[in-house]
Amino acid sequence: MHKHLDKILLSEEQLQSKVRELGARISSDYQDKNLVVLGILKGAVVFLADLIREIKVPLELDFMAVSSYGMSTHASGVVRILKDLERDIVGKDVLIIEDIVDTGLTLSYLKENLRARNPASLKICTLLDKPDRRKVPILPDYKGYNIPDEFVVGYGLDYGERYRNLPYIGVLKPEYYQD
Ligand code: 5GP
Repeated sequence: MHKHLDKILLSEEQLQSKVRELGARISSDYQDKNLVVLGILKGAVVFLADLIREIKVPLELDFMAVSSYGMSTHASGVVRILKDLERDIVGKDVLIIEDIVDTGLTLSYLKENLRARNPASLKICTLLDKPDRRKVPILPDYKGYNIPDEFVVGYGLDYGERYRNLPYIGVLKPEYYQD
């Protein structure tokens, strides 16, 4: 385990088996659809890279980047689009891939923004969810795990751009972040 972590919350094996399960569900739900997998940079890239290899139906890949925590562990509530989609999504079945839903502010803004572009359908797949922290009602259509209100890193999730490359998800020791 990385020495900055208090504990491992989800092991590499747990993550891989959950990704296989989600991939199988998505593959069966999106048969004969126009699936666009929309990754939210940067946190979702590790999850997305594993997940799309478990999706057995044709798909297009696109990405958006929105402003997030930066160096702080508090949500600002302000969402800005830093990078937009490359292709339009009219008539497409868009599946947003997120690393974690916390207050729900990011996804609530994104859903509204994307719905205005007239996709055939718009759903959310998140690896992690902190339902106790919700400020606006967002219900993911596909979810890996509910987790408690602790700041986690690894498997794409960072603190100050570090720890994204850990193959598991762990809880950072308090002395390594300012709350
Ligand atoms: P929301 O808008 O739902 O509050 O925030 C979603 C974003 O906050 C996530 O995409 C992620 O970037 C960040 N976030 C929320 N909780 C955590 C956490 O425990 N660890 C890390 N590394 N990022 C988090």
